[in-house]
Amino acid sequence: MPFPTVFGRGLVEELANFAHRPYLVVTMDDLWPKFQGAFDDGLAGVHPVRTLDLDSLGALVAELPPCASVIGLGGGQALDVAKFFAWRLGLPLFQVPTAMTVNAPFGHRAGLRSGGRVRYLGWAVPEAVYIDLDVIQAAPPQLNRSGVGDVLCYHTAHHDWRLARDLGREEPRWPYDERLVAAARERLESVLSKLDDIREVTEEGIRTLMLAHRWGGATYHDSGWNPRHIEGVDHFLFYNLERLTGRHFIHGQPVGLGVYIGSLWQDNDAEAMLAALHRAGVDIRPQAMGVTWDDVAEAVRTLPEYVRSAGLWFTVVDAVPAPGDLVDRARERIEAVYGRWSP
Ligand SMILES: [Zn+2]
Repeated sequence: MPFPTVFGRGLVEELANFAHRPYLVVTMDDLWPKFQGAFDDGLAGVHPVRTLDLDSLGALVAELPPCASVIGLGGGQALDVAKFFAWRLGLPLFQVPTAMTVNAPFGHRAGLRSGGRVRYLGWAVPEAVYIDLDVIQAAPPQLNRSGVGDVLCYHTAHHDWRLARDLGREEPRWPYDERLVAAARERLESVLSKLDDIREVTEEGIRTLMLAHRWGGATYHDSGWNPRHIEGVDHFLFYNLERLTGRHFIHGQPVGLGVYIGSLWQDNDAEAMLAALHRAGVDIRPQAMGVTWDDVAEAVRTLPEYVRSAGLWFTVVDAVPAPGDLVDRARERIEAVYGRWSP
Protein backbone atom coordinates (compact mmCIF):
# COMPACT_ATOMS: atom_id res chain seq x y z
CA MET A 1 0.00 0.00 0.00
CA PRO A 2 1.23 3.54 -0.66
CA PHE A 3 2.98 5.17 2.29
CA PRO A 4 1.27 7.89 4.34
CA THR A 5 2.16 11.10 2.54
CA VAL A 6 1.80 14.62 3.88
CA PHE A 7 1.94 17.83 1.81
CA GLY A 8 2.54 21.09 3.65
CA ARG A 9 4.98 23.81 4.60
CA GLY A 10 7.46 24.20 7.43
CA LEU A 11 7.63 20.42 7.70
CA VAL A 12 11.41 20.12 8.16
CA GLU A 13 11.24 22.40 11.22
CA GLU A 14 8.68 20.09 12.83
CA LEU A 15 10.79 16.91 12.61
CA ALA A 16 12.68 17.60 15.85
CA ASN A 17 9.35 17.75 17.69
CA PHE A 18 8.29 14.20 16.96
CA ALA A 19 11.11 12.02 15.59
CA HIS A 20 12.18 9.49 18.23
CA ARG A 21 15.25 10.74 20.05
CA PRO A 22 18.08 10.69 19.50
CA TYR A 23 17.53 10.82 15.73
CA LEU A 24 20.01 10.26 12.92
CA VAL A 25 19.76 12.51 9.86
CA VAL A 26 20.85 10.95 6.56
CA THR A 27 21.43 13.65 3.96
CA MET A 28 23.91 15.05 1.43
CA ASP A 29 26.91 17.30 2.09
CA ASP A 30 25.48 20.19 0.07
CA LEU A 31 22.06 20.01 1.76
CA TRP A 32 23.06 19.83 5.40
CA PRO A 33 24.09 23.52 5.77
CA LYS A 34 20.63 24.52 4.48
CA PHE A 35 18.72 22.40 6.99
CA GLN A 36 20.89 21.89 10.06
CA GLY A 37 19.28 24.84 11.85
CA ALA A 38 16.00 22.89 11.98
CA PHE A 39 17.45 20.25 14.33
CA ASP A 40 18.12 20.44 18.06
CA ASP A 41 19.90 18.57 20.84
CA GLY A 42 17.91 15.46 19.89
CA LEU A 43 20.30 15.01 16.99
CA ALA A 44 22.38 11.86 17.38
CA GLY A 45 24.45 12.68 14.33
CA VAL A 46 24.47 13.32 10.61
CA HIS A 47 25.38 10.84 7.93
CA PRO A 48 26.28 12.57 4.65
CA VAL A 49 25.86 10.01 1.86
CA ARG A 50 29.06 9.38 -0.10
CA THR A 51 28.40 5.89 -1.43
CA LEU A 52 25.59 3.55 -2.46
CA ASP A 53 27.89 0.54 -2.40
CA LEU A 54 26.30 -2.23 -0.38
CA ASP A 55 29.47 -3.52 1.27
CA SER A 56 30.61 -0.02 2.23
CA LEU A 57 27.22 0.83 3.70
CA GLY A 58 27.10 -2.45 5.60
CA ALA A 59 30.43 -1.57 7.22
CA LEU A 60 29.19 1.93 8.08
CA VAL A 61 26.24 0.61 10.11
CA ALA A 62 28.56 -0.33 12.98
CA GLU A 63 29.97 3.20 13.09
CA LEU A 64 26.67 5.04 13.39
CA PRO A 65 25.98 6.80 16.69
CA PRO A 66 23.30 5.23 18.92
CA CYS A 67 19.92 6.48 17.69
CA ALA A 68 16.19 5.78 18.06
CA SER A 69 14.97 6.88 14.62
CA VAL A 70 16.26 7.74 11.15
CA ILE A 71 15.37 10.82 9.11
CA GLY A 72 16.07 10.76 5.37
CA LEU A 73 16.45 14.26 3.96
CA GLY A 74 17.41 14.74 0.32
CA GLY A 75 17.04 13.11 -3.08
CA GLY A 76 16.98 9.44 -3.97
CA GLN A 77 20.42 8.62 -2.62
CA ALA A 78 19.87 10.06 0.86
CA LEU A 79 16.46 8.44 1.14
CA ASP A 80 17.72 5.06 -0.06
CA VAL A 81 20.57 5.06 2.44
CA ALA A 82 18.15 6.16 5.18
CA LYS A 83 15.99 3.15 4.27
CA PHE A 84 19.00 0.86 4.46
CA PHE A 85 20.06 2.08 7.92
CA ALA A 86 16.48 1.96 9.25
CA TRP A 87 16.20 -1.59 7.94
CA ARG A 88 19.50 -2.77 9.38
CA LEU A 89 18.87 -1.14 12.74
CA GLY A 90 15.13 -1.85 12.95
CA LEU A 91 14.29 1.83 13.57
CA PRO A 92 11.34 4.08 12.70
CA LEU A 93 11.94 6.11 9.55
CA PHE A 94 10.77 9.56 8.44
CA GLN A 95 11.38 10.56 4.83
CA VAL A 96 11.64 14.10 3.48
CA PRO A 97 12.37 14.33 -0.26
CA THR A 98 13.92 17.71 -1.10
CA ALA A 99 13.23 17.39 -4.84
CA MET A 100 10.99 15.38 -7.16
CA THR A 101 13.79 13.52 -8.95
CA VAL A 102 12.72 9.88 -8.38
CA ASN A 103 10.09 7.66 -6.82
CA ALA A 104 12.57 6.43 -4.18
CA PRO A 105 10.73 8.04 -1.20
CA PHE A 106 7.78 5.76 -1.90
CA GLY A 107 9.51 2.42 -2.53
CA HIS A 108 9.97 -0.31 0.08
CA ARG A 109 13.48 -1.34 -0.92
CA ALA A 110 16.70 0.69 -1.22
CA GLY A 111 18.27 1.00 -4.68
CA LEU A 112 21.93 0.26 -3.91
CA ARG A 113 24.91 -0.84 -5.97
CA SER A 114 26.74 -4.12 -5.72
CA GLY A 115 29.49 -5.20 -8.10
CA GLY A 116 28.44 -2.59 -10.66
CA ARG A 117 24.81 -3.65 -10.59
CA VAL A 118 21.73 -2.06 -9.13
CA ARG A 119 20.33 -4.09 -6.28
CA TYR A 120 16.98 -3.33 -4.63
CA LEU A 121 17.40 -4.49 -1.07
CA GLY A 122 15.74 -4.11 2.31
CA TRP A 123 12.35 -3.31 3.75
CA ALA A 124 11.50 0.10 5.10
CA VAL A 125 8.01 1.49 5.53
CA PRO A 126 8.35 5.08 6.72
CA GLU A 127 6.05 6.46 9.39
CA ALA A 128 5.31 9.13 6.78
CA VAL A 129 6.75 10.89 3.74
CA TYR A 130 6.74 14.67 4.21
CA ILE A 131 6.57 16.81 1.07
CA ASP A 132 7.37 20.38 1.98
CA LEU A 133 6.16 22.55 -0.89
CA ASP A 134 8.59 25.39 -0.08
CA VAL A 135 11.53 23.00 0.10
CA ILE A 136 10.64 21.39 -3.25
CA GLN A 137 10.16 24.78 -4.90
CA ALA A 138 13.57 25.94 -3.66
CA ALA A 139 15.36 22.95 -5.24
CA PRO A 140 17.20 23.40 -8.56
CA PRO A 141 14.47 23.33 -11.27
CA GLN A 142 16.25 20.72 -13.38
CA LEU A 143 16.17 18.27 -10.46
CA ASN A 144 12.42 18.67 -10.05
CA ARG A 145 11.63 18.53 -13.75
CA SER A 146 13.75 15.41 -14.30
CA GLY A 147 11.28 13.53 -12.10
CA VAL A 148 8.99 12.96 -15.07
CA GLY A 149 11.51 10.36 -16.33
CA ASP A 150 10.37 7.87 -13.70
CA VAL A 151 6.79 8.12 -15.00
CA LEU A 152 7.28 8.52 -18.77
CA CYS A 153 9.16 5.21 -18.65
CA TYR A 154 5.80 3.45 -18.24
CA HIS A 155 5.27 4.16 -21.95
CA THR A 156 8.27 2.05 -23.00
CA ALA A 157 7.73 -0.51 -20.25
CA HIS A 158 4.22 -1.29 -21.47
CA HIS A 159 5.41 -1.84 -25.02
CA ASP A 160 8.15 -4.16 -23.78
CA TRP A 161 5.65 -6.19 -21.78
CA ARG A 162 3.22 -6.51 -24.70
CA LEU A 163 6.12 -7.54 -26.92
CA ALA A 164 7.06 -10.28 -24.46
CA ARG A 165 3.44 -11.48 -24.44
CA ASP A 166 3.11 -11.41 -28.24
CA LEU A 167 6.36 -13.30 -28.76
CA GLY A 168 5.60 -15.88 -26.07
CA ARG A 169 8.54 -14.62 -23.99
CA GLU A 170 6.78 -13.52 -20.81
CA GLU A 171 8.52 -14.45 -17.59
CA PRO A 172 6.33 -17.12 -15.93
CA ARG A 173 6.03 -15.09 -12.74
CA TRP A 174 4.92 -11.98 -14.63
CA PRO A 175 2.21 -12.80 -17.18
CA TYR A 176 0.95 -9.71 -18.97
CA ASP A 177 -1.63 -7.93 -16.81
CA GLU A 178 -3.80 -5.33 -18.47
CA ARG A 179 -5.04 -4.02 -15.11
CA LEU A 180 -1.54 -3.09 -14.00
CA VAL A 181 -0.85 -1.47 -17.37
CA ALA A 182 -4.09 0.52 -17.15
CA ALA A 183 -3.33 1.66 -13.60
CA ALA A 184 0.13 2.85 -14.66
CA ARG A 185 -1.30 4.49 -17.76
CA GLU A 186 -3.63 6.53 -15.57
CA ARG A 187 -0.64 8.00 -13.66
CA LEU A 188 1.25 8.58 -16.90
CA GLU A 189 -1.71 10.48 -18.32
CA SER A 190 -1.99 12.61 -15.18
CA VAL A 191 1.64 13.67 -15.54
CA LEU A 192 1.31 14.27 -19.30
CA SER A 193 -1.63 16.58 -18.60
CA LYS A 194 0.42 18.72 -16.17
CA LEU A 195 3.80 19.07 -17.89
CA ASP A 196 3.71 22.88 -17.76
CA ASP A 197 2.93 22.86 -14.04
CA ILE A 198 5.73 20.38 -13.45
CA ARG A 199 8.19 22.50 -15.46
CA GLU A 200 7.19 25.56 -13.42
CA VAL A 201 7.12 23.50 -10.18
CA THR A 202 3.72 24.88 -9.17
CA GLU A 203 1.86 23.37 -6.23
CA GLU A 204 -0.37 21.55 -8.73
CA GLY A 205 2.70 20.22 -10.53
CA ILE A 206 4.24 19.00 -7.27
CA ARG A 207 1.08 17.20 -6.18
CA THR A 208 0.61 15.57 -9.58
CA LEU A 209 4.17 14.30 -9.97
CA MET A 210 4.59 13.25 -6.33
CA LEU A 211 1.29 11.35 -6.30
CA ALA A 212 2.39 9.57 -9.49
CA HIS A 213 5.70 8.73 -7.76
CA ARG A 214 3.80 7.58 -4.70
CA TRP A 215 1.93 5.06 -6.79
CA GLY A 216 5.02 4.10 -8.83
CA GLY A 217 7.20 3.58 -5.76
CA ALA A 218 4.68 1.31 -4.05
CA THR A 219 3.46 -0.73 -7.00
CA TYR A 220 6.58 -2.87 -7.32
CA HIS A 221 5.78 -4.40 -3.94
CA ASP A 222 2.02 -4.10 -4.23
CA SER A 223 1.92 -6.05 -7.50
CA GLY A 224 3.98 -8.89 -6.01
CA TRP A 225 7.45 -7.50 -6.78
CA ASN A 226 6.54 -7.05 -10.42
CA PRO A 227 8.40 -4.26 -12.26
CA ARG A 228 7.07 -4.98 -15.75
CA HIS A 229 4.47 -2.22 -15.91
CA ILE A 230 6.86 0.48 -14.70
CA GLU A 231 10.31 -0.23 -16.13
CA GLY A 232 11.92 -1.65 -19.27
CA VAL A 233 14.43 -0.66 -21.94
CA ASP A 234 14.31 2.94 -20.59
CA HIS A 235 16.06 2.03 -17.33
CA PHE A 236 18.21 -0.69 -18.87
CA LEU A 237 19.91 1.84 -21.13
CA PHE A 238 20.54 4.05 -18.09
CA TYR A 239 22.03 1.17 -16.07
CA ASN A 240 24.36 0.31 -18.93
CA LEU A 241 25.38 3.94 -19.47
CA GLU A 242 26.16 4.20 -15.76
CA ARG A 243 28.17 0.99 -15.88
CA LEU A 244 30.17 2.11 -18.93
CA THR A 245 30.89 5.69 -17.88
CA GLY A 246 30.94 5.49 -14.08
CA ARG A 247 29.05 8.79 -14.07
CA HIS A 248 26.71 9.92 -11.36
CA PHE A 249 23.52 11.04 -13.11
CA ILE A 250 20.41 13.04 -12.32
CA HIS A 251 18.24 9.94 -12.71
CA GLY A 252 15.58 11.37 -15.04
CA GLN A 253 18.05 12.55 -17.69
CA PRO A 254 19.48 9.17 -18.74
CA VAL A 255 16.13 7.50 -18.07
CA GLY A 256 14.46 10.14 -20.28
CA LEU A 257 17.04 9.46 -22.99
CA GLY A 258 16.25 5.77 -22.52
CA VAL A 259 12.55 6.48 -22.95
CA TYR A 260 13.16 8.29 -26.22
CA ILE A 261 15.73 5.89 -27.70
CA GLY A 262 13.74 2.93 -26.39
CA SER A 263 10.50 4.12 -27.98
CA LEU A 264 12.35 4.78 -31.26
CA TRP A 265 13.72 1.23 -31.11
CA GLN A 266 10.17 -0.02 -30.42
CA ASP A 267 8.68 2.22 -33.14
CA ASN A 268 6.31 3.35 -30.40
CA ASP A 269 5.24 6.99 -30.66
CA ALA A 270 8.74 8.24 -29.90
CA GLU A 271 8.05 11.80 -31.03
CA ALA A 272 5.36 12.21 -28.36
CA MET A 273 7.85 11.19 -25.68
CA LEU A 274 10.48 13.57 -27.03
CA ALA A 275 7.95 16.40 -27.03
CA ALA A 276 6.87 15.58 -23.46
CA LEU A 277 10.44 15.51 -22.15
CA HIS A 278 11.20 18.79 -23.86
CA ARG A 279 8.03 20.43 -22.61
CA ALA A 280 8.73 19.34 -19.03
CA GLY A 281 12.19 20.90 -19.39
CA VAL A 282 14.28 17.73 -19.07
CA ASP A 283 17.49 18.04 -21.10
CA ILE A 284 18.25 14.60 -22.51
CA ARG A 285 21.24 15.64 -24.61
CA PRO A 286 24.17 13.42 -23.55
CA GLN A 287 26.41 16.44 -22.99
CA ALA A 288 23.87 17.84 -20.50
CA MET A 289 24.55 14.77 -18.34
CA GLY A 290 28.32 14.76 -18.82
CA VAL A 291 28.62 11.98 -21.40
CA THR A 292 29.05 11.89 -25.18
CA TRP A 293 27.08 10.55 -28.14
CA ASP A 294 29.83 7.94 -28.50
CA ASP A 295 29.07 6.76 -24.96
CA VAL A 296 25.38 6.50 -25.86
CA ALA A 297 26.20 4.55 -29.04
CA GLU A 298 28.36 2.18 -27.01
CA ALA A 299 25.61 1.74 -24.41
CA VAL A 300 23.14 0.85 -27.18
CA ARG A 301 25.61 -1.48 -28.90
CA THR A 302 26.40 -3.43 -25.73
CA LEU A 303 22.87 -3.40 -24.34
CA PRO A 304 21.81 -6.91 -25.47
CA GLU A 305 24.87 -8.43 -23.86
CA TYR A 306 24.41 -6.33 -20.72
CA VAL A 307 20.75 -7.23 -20.16
CA ARG A 308 21.57 -10.92 -20.54
CA SER A 309 24.50 -10.82 -18.13
CA ALA A 310 22.46 -8.79 -15.63
CA GLY A 311 19.54 -11.23 -15.88
CA LEU A 312 17.05 -8.45 -16.78
CA TRP A 313 13.62 -9.20 -18.21
CA PHE A 314 12.60 -9.52 -21.86
CA THR A 315 12.32 -6.24 -23.77
CA VAL A 316 12.72 -4.87 -27.28
CA VAL A 317 16.46 -5.27 -26.68
CA ASP A 318 16.07 -9.06 -26.88
CA ALA A 319 13.34 -8.96 -29.51
CA VAL A 320 14.97 -7.06 -32.36
CA PRO A 321 18.50 -5.83 -33.06
CA ALA A 322 18.89 -2.08 -32.69
CA PRO A 323 18.38 -0.44 -36.10
CA GLY A 324 21.80 0.52 -37.49
CA ASP A 325 20.87 4.21 -37.67
CA LEU A 326 19.11 4.32 -34.29
CA VAL A 327 21.56 6.58 -32.47
CA ASP A 328 22.07 8.85 -35.50
CA ARG A 329 18.31 9.31 -35.83
CA ALA A 330 17.95 9.97 -32.11
CA ARG A 331 20.72 12.55 -32.24
CA GLU A 332 19.24 14.29 -35.25
CA ARG A 333 15.80 14.60 -33.66
CA ILE A 334 17.09 15.56 -30.21
CA GLU A 335 19.28 18.29 -31.73
CA ALA A 336 16.34 19.49 -33.82
CA VAL A 337 14.16 19.85 -30.72
CA TYR A 338 16.71 20.97 -28.08
CA GLY A 339 19.25 22.62 -30.37
CA ARG A 340 22.86 21.58 -30.83
CA TRP A 341 24.89 21.43 -27.65
CA SER A 342 27.06 24.47 -27.09
CA PRO A 343 29.07 24.41 -23.88
ZN1 LIG B 1 13.85 5.06 -11.98
